[in-house]
Amino acid sequence: MFRDSQLIINLDNLAHNVNSIKSYCKNTTLGAVLKANAYGHGLKPMAKALYDLDVNYFLVATLPEGIALRKENPNYIIQIMGHTPNQYLKALVEHQLIPTIFSLEQATLLNELTQQPIDVHLKIETGFNRLGMQINDQTVEEIKNIHALDHIRIKGAFSHLSLMDKASDTLQFNRFKELMSTLETYNIHIPVQHICDSIGMVFYPAFHMDMVRIGALLYGLESEEKGTLDIRPILSFQSKLSHVKIINKGERVAYGNRYIASENVYIGTLPFGYADGYPRSLTNKGYVYINTVKYPIVGAICMDQCMIASKTPLNKDDIVEIIGEHIPVQTLADLACTNKNEIVAQLANRLPRVYIKNNQIVHIENGLIE
Ligand SMILES: *Cc1c(COP(=O)(O)O)cnc(C)c1O
Repeated sequence: MFRDSQLIINLDNLAHNVNSIKSYCKNTTLGAVLKANAYGHGLKPMAKALYDLDVNYFLVATLPEGIALRKENPNYIIQIMGHTPNQYLKALVEHQLIPTIFSLEQATLLNELTQQPIDVHLKIETGFNRLGMQINDQTVEEIKNIHALDHIRIKGAFSHLSLMDKASDTLQFNRFKELMSTLETYNIHIPVQHICDSIGMVFYPAFHMDMVRIGALLYGLESEEKGTLDIRPILSFQSKLSHVKIINKGERVAYGNRYIASENVYIGTLPFGYADGYPRSLTNKGYVYINTVKYPIVGAICMDQCMIASKTPLNKDDIVEIIGEHIPVQTLADLACTNKNEIVAQLANRLPRVYIKNNQIVHIENGLIE
């Protein structure tokens, strides 16, 4: 692994989460959202682990993420949820990725690029106002025209909920449903309709439709919004002390001397910093656990290192928990005034990721070296 700072990914808990989600939405396809390096959990190993659990529909945000997955396995079904710029459509076709389309213009370009049928999903704007075809007098006509293109197969259609409140989410869902019904009257049946992310899936069983797009819940990241689902966190972040010493009362620590010892203390240095994804805003605020004891991070968090203080001796062989049993992602997110997804999405490529199954290491991913 070459580093003491590492992420441990528990694949048994992943399997548990997949089962919980599948039994919650029985007749609906589980689409696994793997954007942002699978929320920091490692794109390729997570795809493989999910595929072994009979999940084979993967959603990513960008074309390069899709290409990376395609290189792993020709059998993955891979959808790009974001916009693919026109000049890259050729690569998209070449790698057999499913684009998200929201204009006749782009559908026409795509149609000209291929001689084979290509599956696309339409993105429909229902109120989030990010990406999607707006619903107006021309929408049905535009979709009819896309449908009529020789090589384009409208395999799916989707929208995204704002999750503001039940009334506005229901309005979004109804707008989407209504458009789908109108298309039916023109004999356009779109087989894979989807609108739910993790929270949508938990809150609105009636909105599950043909597929749910699940990120956070899969990784065990929902704490308050998981409803009755039994979901377990799968990631922990741990390290080991690289240096321990005593400093005297009045001595200071790190850039800007933002910590001043009020008595003689042990200072332990830890080999991770904000370049590993630990928020720099936690300077003099963050903490770690060693053997169920909490230690404050003192002084500025550096790019690659940070320091903790202790009144009692520190053992360099002990495992230091940064995220895990005592510090869930939610706690760290609250402390840094952000959300769970931002914390995990920032976890750096240079952190080795260790995959565990039945208490055994089954894979090590070292993104920098491979
Ligand atoms: C990220 C994303 C999801 C997954 O959201 P979670 O809350 O993590 O489940 C679903 N749909 C779209 C369009 C997304 O961008």
